[in-house]
Amino acid sequence: MERLSAENIRSDFQEIYRFGCRWLDTEGERNTRQSILTKFEDSSMDNVYCEWFQCHRYVPKECRLEVLSPISLDIRCEPLEYSENSEIEGELIFLGEFNEGNADTISKTNMDLEGKISLIVSDTPAFYISELIEKGAAGVIVATDAPDNLIRTLAAKSYPPNLKDPLKWKVKIPGVSISKQDLYKLLSYMSLGKVTVKIEHFWDSRISQTCNIVGIVEGGMDESIVVGAHYDSQIKTPGAWDNLTGVSTLLNLARIFGKAKNRRRIIFVAFGAEEIGLWGSSFFVEELREELRERCNAMFCLDAVSSAFPAERSLWSEGLLKKIILEKAQQYGYPIDNSRGLTLSYSDYYPFFTEGIPAAMIWEYPPINPYYHTEKDSIKYIDFNKLYLMGELYKKIIQEVSNGLY
Ligand SMILES: [Zn+2]
Repeated sequence: MERLSAENIRSDFQEIYRFGCRWLDTEGERNTRQSILTKFEDSSMDNVYCEWFQCHRYVPKECRLEVLSPISLDIRCEPLEYSENSEIEGELIFLGEFNEGNADTISKTNMDLEGKISLIVSDTPAFYISELIEKGAAGVIVATDAPDNLIRTLAAKSYPPNLKDPLKWKVKIPGVSISKQDLYKLLSYMSLGKVTVKIEHFWDSRISQTCNIVGIVEGGMDESIVVGAHYDSQIKTPGAWDNLTGVSTLLNLARIFGKAKNRRRIIFVAFGAEEIGLWGSSFFVEELREELRERCNAMFCLDAVSSAFPAERSLWSEGLLKKIILEKAQQYGYPIDNSRGLTLSYSDYYPFFTEGIPAAMIWEYPPINPYYHTEKDSIKYIDFNKLYLMGELYKKIIQEVSNGLY
């Protein structure tokens, strides 16, 4: 099979990168969608279409964090998207770091959170907020560990989306996120005694339309595999690593497999609205549930594939598919450094996994890219040679799976 073109990966990436941020219902998102659709149509696929769905659009209006006592001070913050539209005052309680599914430490805590404002350190706060609400927290401040005084933009809620009643998809307490430096500032005030703060968080809530772009390459067998990458980005980032690395790889895999003779049908999908809780992939699975359950052998999720930062090559998968990928990666000379299962809803593999469809994501982690969900997730930190090699690894594995191995 022909090699991927490193030059095409770079030029597709650069073209879409110029559109800027791809947050739901922005110019950047619309231009990206059109560009992917055109590129899919120019590949030799058998059928290309858009699959539209409704989702909940978050439009920020105002966000403020004020320390009321022991001193009076404004702290720079970003809104915690989809958290409650309100303002609240209360005592600040620090709970610690939450990143790897340790939500039970919140439910087990003896600390009294009732009516108070919880301060947590997390890159994935959506997994912990329902526990905080259950414990009676009145608000939440999330500190992330981004360098350079940056604040990651994050959603307060995650999978599952509410596809039937999108406007109901939000959480009941207001929240903001802050930088690491300001976390230390708050902690030093807390070491002196009780700290009270005020959170103001206001936003416009709207129903919005977005879509998945689907391209199908028919094979000789009535069985399918799905290869997907989300094309949206968080609200203030150019989203180079997350996820133009996945989109540019997807476009180039589609070009090559579109011309190949594959035994299994390959369904390429550019998913919409991943960042706010896997809306696009959830809709896709919902629409094709019976079909996928009966005929889908594997789903490959291309998300945050590769950056210039040193990190381990990581495989997230389960069962036989995981075993085969580990073996093949070793055999091809792209050994996997670490692997784990799929039980956390981090990316678009998850709605497939919950339907029992074998899924896999190969990416670079740990550590997390330091500029994840910040304005510095830029093209400057992409190593196109590394990205090309990850694309080649995906290509070889997809080739094996599309031709009946597994
Ligand atoms: Zn992503």
